[in-house]
Amino acid sequence: MKFKKIILLWCFSVLLFSCKSTQLDSTKSTVLLDISNEVDENKFVNLKNYSNDFVYDMKYATDDNFLKEKVYPCDECFLRVKTVKSLLEANKTFLENGYRIKIFDCYRPKAIQKKMFQLVPNATYVANPKKGSIHNRGGAVDITLVDSLGIEVDMGTKFDFFGEEASHNYQNLTEEILANRKFLKEVMLQNNFKPFDSEWWHYNLNGSNTDKVENLKWNCN
Ligand SMILES: [Zn+2]
Repeated sequence: MKFKKIILLWCFSVLLFSCKSTQLDSTKSTVLLDISNEVDENKFVNLKNYSNDFVYDMKYATDDNFLKEKVYPCDECFLRVKTVKSLLEANKTFLENGYRIKIFDCYRPKAIQKKMFQLVPNATYVANPKKGSIHNRGGAVDITLVDSLGIEVDMGTKFDFFGEEASHNYQNLTEEILANRKFLKEVMLQNNFKPFDSEWWHYNLNGSNTDKVENLKWNCN
C-alpha cells in the first residue's frame, strides 16, 4: 500500500514537472533585467526582458511567411541565456556603429519545424525535424540590420528567400550588399555565432548543436 502511494506521488511529480517544462514563461518584467545575473546558461528567457535595443519583426507570429499562416501566438523571442548574452554583445557593436539588430525568428518549437519541413522538404533551407534545427534548441536567430531610422539595410534578398541569391557564397551582388552582409557576419562571428551558408540571415551560437531539441509553448501576456 505504501509502495503504491510512493509510485502515485512519483507519477504526480513527473506529470507536474513535464507540464511545467512544456510551457515558457512569457511574463514580462516591468524593468529591464540584467542577463549577467542569470546563472543557468541553458535556461530559456525572453529577450525582451533584457534589452529595448532590438527591433522585432517576428514573421511566424504573422501570416507574412512562407507558411502563409500565423504559427506563433505572439511575437516573443525566446532563447537560451547563453544565446541572449552573445546577441546582446553583438547588438552593442552594431549600436556603436549606428545600426541595430532586427529579429525575424528566435526559438522555434519542434512542432512548427515539422510543419515547415512538410512544406519545404529541403535541408538546404529547412532543417529536418528528425534531427532538429538549432532554432529548436534555442541557439539560433534569424536577423538583419536596421539603421538609426529603422530602415533595413539592403541584404540583397528578403528573409526566407529560398534561392542561391541568399547564400553567403553568392557574389553576384552590389558592393554595398556584399559589404552589408560582411558587416553582419563579422560582428556575429566575433560574438560566438556561426553563419549558415545558404541563408544570410541565420546565425547559430557555437556549440548549441548539442543542446536539447525542445517543443515548448508560450502564452501571450
Ligand atoms: Zn534560421
